[in-house]
Amino acid sequence: MHLLLGTQTALIVSKNISEIRQARWADPALSWGLVPTMGALHAGHISLAERAAAENDKSCATIFVNPTQFAPTDDLDKYPRTLERDLEMLDAAGIDMVFTPTPAVMYPDGFGTRVLVDGVTARLEGEHRPGHFDGVTQVVSKLFNIVQPNRAYFGQKDAQQTVVLKKLVRDLNFNLDLIVCPTVREPDGLAMSSRNRYLSAEERQRATVLYQSLSQAAKMIEDGERDGETVRQMIANTVNTTPHAELIYASVASALDLSELDRISGNILISLAVLVGDTRLIDNFMIDDIKP
Ligand code: AMP
Repeated sequence: MHLLLGTQTALIVSKNISEIRQARWADPALSWGLVPTMGALHAGHISLAERAAAENDKSCATIFVNPTQFAPTDDLDKYPRTLERDLEMLDAAGIDMVFTPTPAVMYPDGFGTRVLVDGVTARLEGEHRPGHFDGVTQVVSKLFNIVQPNRAYFGQKDAQQTVVLKKLVRDLNFNLDLIVCPTVREPDGLAMSSRNRYLSAEERQRATVLYQSLSQAAKMIEDGERDGETVRQMIANTVNTTPHAELIYASVASALDLSELDRISGNILISLAVLVGDTRLIDNFMIDDIKP
């Protein structure tokens, strides 16, 4: 266990599971919030950290680039790692403890348990990134068991992840509240993401097409459009006529089970994935209570 170097803080930083457990249970009367991350932190992550710090007696963030949720062709090796800066940001946000395990701590020799959520994992991101959510549910289950938080905080930015994890919590009776926090955006609407730093200046400008096409979709629906395919087509056209951008998928789905909608009504999730240059970006809008 080490304290953040060169500062006055009492931030606990450890890669060791028993040290994390010891600190978590030092006073069993205190409530704990958990913020799982892959590091390379930005204001989106920090909004989760601040909320966890505000709503609980103590709060723990985790920084772990989980290899089991990356496909061999994904960006695991080049995923940005900025640990010292991350620790300073978490400390400033009021976090008390940071768990920074290595892959060997999480997946020691002989490890062989998987956690598979059915149904909602097959669509959208799951369809285009096979195995991705199996890695997410595996690592999040372990983090829930290691930290045993009262509340766990996730971003609306990864909308399908929140749907999958709510099902995980319900199905496996994890004894915690899962709290979904709003997407934090740049001034021009681009959702903050650790992957935005891969974008060239030109790509960064073009990346606003995700937010723009979502805004247009929301406006179309507000103006009375109820045909799902028409909205999906508009998003596809908007993205694919933007230089450096290539649509991976556009979805207008039920917010409940993520099934694609022919007719739009009720609570919906509009989402898309776009390749901007070589960088894969996702974003979404959730709209409630649409009249048929
Ligand atoms: P990651 O480090 O990308 O795994 O993200 C860790 C957590 O931060 C996840 O719950 C994300 O949904 C959340 N997050 C990432 N980007 C944002 C954002 N722009 N606004 C709010 N939450 C975010």
